[in-house]
Amino acid sequence: MTKRAQIIVRGTVQGVGFRPFVYSHASRRALNGRVLNNATGVLIDLEGDASDIDHFIRELESNPPPLSTIESIERLENLVPLGYPDFQIVESDSAGRKFVPISADVATCDDCLRELFDTSNRRYRYPFINCTNCGPRFTIIERVPYDRENTTMRSFEMCNACRAEYENPLDRRFHAEPTACEVCGPRLCLFDCEGTEILGDAVKMAVELLASGKIVAIKGIGGFHLACDALSKPAVAQLRSRKFREDKPFALMAQSVAAIQPYCRISDHEVALLESPARPIVLLERKRGNAIPRSVAPGINTLGFMLPYAPLHHLLFDSFHRPLVMTSGNISDEPICFRDAEANERLHSITDYFLVHDRPIHVRTDDSVVRSFNGREMLLRRSRGLAPAPIRTAFKFERSILACGAELKNTFCLARKRSAFVSHHIGDLENLETLRSFTEGIEHYKHLFDIDPEVVAYDLHPEYLSTKFALALADVSTKIPIQHHHAHVASCMADNEIDGEVIGVAFDGLGFGLDGKLWGGEFFVADFRDAEREVHLANVPLAGGARAIREPWRLAAVYLQRTFGESFLELDLPFIRQLDRKRWSSLNSMIAAGVNCPGTSSMGRLFDAISGLLTLRSSVNYEGQAAIELEAVAEKVANNFYEFRIDGDEISAEPVVRRAVEDLLDDVPVSQIAARFHLSVAHLILNVVLRISTERHMNRVALSGGVFQNMWLLECVTQLLRESDFEVFTHSRVPANDGGISLGQAAVANARLQCGRSD
Ligand code: ZN
Ligand code: ZN
Ligand code: FE
Repeated sequence: MTKRAQIIVRGTVQGVGFRPFVYSHASRRALNGRVLNNATGVLIDLEGDASDIDHFIRELESNPPPLSTIESIERLENLVPLGYPDFQIVESDSAGRKFVPISADVATCDDCLRELFDTSNRRYRYPFINCTNCGPRFTIIERVPYDRENTTMRSFEMCNACRAEYENPLDRRFHAEPTACEVCGPRLCLFDCEGTEILGDAVKMAVELLASGKIVAIKGIGGFHLACDALSKPAVAQLRSRKFREDKPFALMAQSVAAIQPYCRISDHEVALLESPARPIVLLERKRGNAIPRSVAPGINTLGFMLPYAPLHHLLFDSFHRPLVMTSGNISDEPICFRDAEANERLHSITDYFLVHDRPIHVRTDDSVVRSFNGREMLLRRSRGLAPAPIRTAFKFERSILACGAELKNTFCLARKRSAFVSHHIGDLENLETLRSFTEGIEHYKHLFDIDPEVVAYDLHPEYLSTKFALALADVSTKIPIQHHHAHVASCMADNEIDGEVIGVAFDGLGFGLDGKLWGGEFFVADFRDAEREVHLANVPLAGGARAIREPWRLAAVYLQRTFGESFLELDLPFIRQLDRKRWSSLNSMIAAGVNCPGTSSMGRLFDAISGLLTLRSSVNYEGQAAIELEAVAEKVANNFYEFRIDGDEISAEPVVRRAVEDLLDDVPVSQIAARFHLSVAHLILNVVLRISTERHMNRVALSGGVFQNMWLLECVTQLLRESDFEVFTHSRVPANDGGISLGQAAVANARLQCGRSD
């Protein structure tokens, strides 16, 4: 007897080849009916034998299309059969609710790659080849449902051949919304920086230019890259000087894993990360004496490599056989360019040529950045290829929440049910252009995921632009302020899908504390609702406010003064010999008068101070540089370490500074002192955690905050804690840095609402 059932599949099911998959399975089982994308996901109406329907559903659950993620399958049974004559794929239905997880952008698949280099294929060397399993998604979607007319491909009228594929359910381009070919699709163009088009084979010419040491701005998936030959010292130097980027490392792209091997050590897990469809930048340990100039990534021991992810990249590497620098197309700290006009305007002083195309990018997304830690991925920047996929949570968001995130490395988060839509990396909000991405991004996500937030969560810092935005929101009445480091710990808990109480260690640069001071070296007993500050690094003056962040010598001097008194100036140290006495004495009077010297308990600043003391860095030109270089220089074996002093709830770093100075005076190498300092911090964490766990009978530890991007510290501390039988949680799906704050804010706000609080 013919049965009819309706199946509603939710999850990442649109734009991932779901309907053709359903079509071929249904046809194989002689099931009739319809499949369509609707605003909630995919709806399948099936008629046929009951056991065939069962089999069909089981197969869908156990073996779904590779790029899809099924969140739920709902089944309505025993419907009146409609007598479908066949099985068909129906055009999208935009009625009803609009909750559709939009897929992230996907790197070119193997099938498309084969066609790209197949001389007999009609898309041979076509730079915009894609199919239902690959291609741009999030970056071209303007509206839901995901249909061609709602993407930036709208203006390209399909040719007959493309349309035939698009309409054929058995074709691998069936309803591939960005599908195109040479005849009907986007085109590549090469311009010089005066805007004059250079006629000919754009890819071949670009390769010649790159080979001759030129800089080429390349429009990609989520924005523009600035590219140059990574093995050419002059080209790299020129790019640095034109971009006003002194030392911040450049990302690299190479043709394959094998092409990276001469330069870096790559583990199996790192291979998997490099080759994943998200194609993130993977930070790899560089091999000694490799041919990549130091100027690509000065002062550090890692190189950030990614593999080609757009057909254009594959075409370039088909004739360019060295790695390319592929750094974001911007000046200094501005956000990456993604619109043609702004790229022309902002990049023409940096680049020699533009390799561009006429497929508009709707949403700017930077490349994602990831590391491998103990065989697990650890995101440092979650963006292209990963966003906007939701972070699944173990708990349920009772009301829909907008969390506005932090100021630097901002992401926002819209949350509902068990999904936290953590945005792509927005960037530092101090820039007007970035602030616009933030506000427009929130509107875009609200529309895409049909979330109208009832609650807004924000950071306590009154000067964060994300905070000001939250406070100015007129249409949301419930506003919940959340302490920065509580958000860090909660973010780590949500990341690991754990609940209940943890010992939370939040070490970072700076965050606004409940006492109005700048926190950043904090131990909590925390759950999602509350965080009790148990122990923290003693406050020191952040001498000169924001300038102290850019100039680590200031904190080094502050710590020396606290440790040795004024006589620190008589120490026979390179740091003292280099110290500008005049600047110090004016700084010292500022400290005495308490002018522009807010108290801080930041562990990030202590790393800066030690870096300054060891004369590795007296000033920095990118965030975290002093600490990053301190880690880089550290010999990864310490034969000793220093003890912090713990007085009640305060940790004093003075004994550590004293011992480091003694080591310097004893001519212990800087690499060994740096190592001892790292180990000292790891032991500090162990000791404080041991103390709290004895008092409170807890054995779970969550580590969060930017300091835990320090891989050697993270390795030392997780090992020490695990040896003492602690369960240790570190970040994976969202960054330990402020990019993870929005997720933590959403989790805390939700927990407070659940117990009727909105404080
Ligand atoms: Zn493909
Ligand atoms: Zn075509
Ligand atoms: Fe932070």
